[in-house]
Amino acid sequence: MSDAQTLPDAPLEPKSPYELRIRENRGVTEESLKEAIAGGSVGFFHSFTTGSTVDGPGVRCVAWLSGCQFRCQYCHNPDTWHLINGLPVPLARAVQELGRYRHGLKVMNGGFTLSGGEPLMQDRFAVRMFTAAKDMGIHTALDTNGYLGERLSDDELKSIDLVLLDIKSWDSEVHRRVTGKDVTQVLDFARRLSAQKRPAWLRYVLVPGLTDDFDGIEKLAKFVADLGNFERVDVLPFHQMGKFKWKQLGINYSRDDTKPPTPEVVQRAVGLFRANGLKAF
Ligand code: SF4
Repeated sequence: MSDAQTLPDAPLEPKSPYELRIRENRGVTEESLKEAIAGGSVGFFHSFTTGSTVDGPGVRCVAWLSGCQFRCQYCHNPDTWHLINGLPVPLARAVQELGRYRHGLKVMNGGFTLSGGEPLMQDRFAVRMFTAAKDMGIHTALDTNGYLGERLSDDELKSIDLVLLDIKSWDSEVHRRVTGKDVTQVLDFARRLSAQKRPAWLRYVLVPGLTDDFDGIEKLAKFVADLGNFERVDVLPFHQMGKFKWKQLGINYSRDDTKPPTPEVVQRAVGLFRANGLKAF
């Protein structure tokens, strides 16, 4: 599949990531999907929005791409897991759409964030989008679980102004239980970002009975503080806003009875990061 190939006139309208979206692929075959992914000529989108204030600094355009290799127990976007579910959008069209907002984004000290799913499942498209955004003078951010960070060269990392790194747990056993995957690659990516002096923010989802082990949080806080390139930490309280998606997709949801953490528990976690000299919220 190339930019020139005729694609259905997909409605690239701003939409909430909290809406369930599946089978948006409009007849794209597995084979053409692989070809498009390899070259980055087409991105597979779950959704995008133009006015986010929680996905990096300022007001931002955010694109949520489809595809993720993790299976987090608390994922609020399980409809992003499969690449083939995404809406195919040619690179040129996505860049053109982003360009419409370039002046507004600058005025609002914002930029462009790629999220997901896991955007590095579509690493070539991500790199081409970031390069195009930088060429338009737009600040760029990558919201990632870090597992596929090695897909980006050191030069490509330079087209990303900020990495929002989601570390699901410091403890390898807990990380595997939460996500189904090992934490080693994630921590290696964090170290590499530090070595390359790339600005990063940590995102930590606090889930009662799963990721609220304060000893582990303290070790993570020390690790991140020692890296020296993490400018901010956001402790994100678990919520149930994605529960309906699990039900509608017919996937077994193990967090049915889990309640959001109390404000006291959230503040205790925030305090552990602050105690290590980090700006945490
Ligand atoms: S990394 Fe994000 S998108 Fe992937 S399963 Fe986990 S929470 Fe969901």
